[in-house]
Amino acid sequence: MNTKKVAVIGAGPAGMMAAYYSAINNADVTVFEKNDKVGKKLFITGKGRCNITNSSDMENIFANIVTNKKFLYSALYSYTNDDVMNFFENEGLKLKVERGNRVFPLSDHSSDVINTLKKSLKNQGVKIEYNTDVNDLIVKDNEVSGVVLSDGSKQNFDKVIIATGGISYPVTGSDGKGMKIIEKYGHTITDLRPALVPMNVLEEFAKDLQGLSLKNISVNFYEEGRKKPIYSEFGEMLFTHFGVSGPVILSASSTIGKKLKNNNIILKIDLKPALNESQLDERILRDFSECINKDFRNALDKLIPKKLISVIIDYCKIDPYKKVNTISKEERQSLIKALKEFTMTITSLRGFNEAIITSGGIDVKEINPTTMESKIVKNLYIAGEMIDVDAYTGGYNLQIAWSTGKLAGESAAM
Ligand SMILES: Cc1cc2nc3c(=O)[nH]c(=O)nc-3n(C[C@H](O)[C@H](O)[C@H](O)COP(=O)(O)OP(=O)(O)OC[C@H]3O[C@@H](n4cnc5c(N)ncnc54)[C@H](O)[C@@H]3O)c2cc1C
Repeated sequence: MNTKKVAVIGAGPAGMMAAYYSAINNADVTVFEKNDKVGKKLFITGKGRCNITNSSDMENIFANIVTNKKFLYSALYSYTNDDVMNFFENEGLKLKVERGNRVFPLSDHSSDVINTLKKSLKNQGVKIEYNTDVNDLIVKDNEVSGVVLSDGSKQNFDKVIIATGGISYPVTGSDGKGMKIIEKYGHTITDLRPALVPMNVLEEFAKDLQGLSLKNISVNFYEEGRKKPIYSEFGEMLFTHFGVSGPVILSASSTIGKKLKNNNIILKIDLKPALNESQLDERILRDFSECINKDFRNALDKLIPKKLISVIIDYCKIDPYKKVNTISKEERQSLIKALKEFTMTITSLRGFNEAIITSGGIDVKEINPTTMESKIVKNLYIAGEMIDVDAYTGGYNLQIAWSTGKLAGESAAM
């Protein structure tokens, strides 16, 4: 048997899966990881619970991939969400499915996902070199034959898999060096942008709402002066000291990031999406009828969260001390507008330090989608977030890492 010597650079989810599937296909595998442990980013995923994948059908998986979904057909169909779940369960990790088909370890601990992977790699005889920063590749005539470590030493391999991640949350180890290395040998890196990231808001009142979480709201994002929204979603969001965050905001950032380059973006929040304007008016009249002699500022408790009351009152410019029974129809209309179109100006996205993923990366045109081998450097394989692919939250980004990692690992061992 012709055993291939395979190097894997980076022990994130993509690198670990690549190492496992190379080893199980009889390769002699060494993983190089610059940190003193594997999966440092994996540890903080899903707020420490690790949303491993999404158990919905493949159509929905592809619907949640934002960039270059066609490129991922082979990888995702040859290693599906079911395959990922089977892998972990066969390796002894119990899983559970939560709202939105999000799959988590039953224990709610990402550390259990990491330990499962570590154990699987050990069982397959994979060697892991910790605290080992790869500085360069050995490339001659567009063919890779090894790696150069930061101490200058060189190691030869038949195949090299690079899975060093994007550039978000660089404290976890993914600082972009891998992309620089690969760029040196002729690969193109597309525009890198933070994605799945909170947003800065112009209006000062957003700061007063810090900590407020809104459930069952809908958001619409507009380019300034345009009537048609560029992104709409229903769900949950929260206010922070700089602006807005939470699930619907993070998802929206993948779409609106591209549009924010030259213009501000307008965010309109519908605080009562289940009611149309006339239903909302009836609801307000009903609430008001129960407290006709109260001040306006004391009549909104049932309608909106406490923290929002003074901001909404300022926003709709109604005297807070006005008695409820003197509020005019026009004033009710401006209250309805404030509730249905609570508007803010998004000035920018937060930076890579706070971004869940990086949008952009190695140009997919330069990677063979059926093997993950570079089309530019022979025997070099690429996996995970360093490729120009990204998805919404819900376990889809890790699914991309597992699938591209598996395909790269298996192909490199052949
Ligand atoms: C806060 C947060 C929460 C998230 N939650 C989820 C979630 O619940 N579900 C989900 O699907 N996705 C989630 N993601 C996204 C997901 O974590 C990433 O998409 C995924 O980790 C990418 O995997 P990767 O293996 O490509 O890269 P990484 O996980 O970034 O791993 C790359 C590895 O390479 C190492 N490395 C880098 N350069 C070198 C070098 N030169 N030499 C040696 N080693 C090197 C790094 O130290 C690192 O260990 C989350 C991300 C963040 C930041």
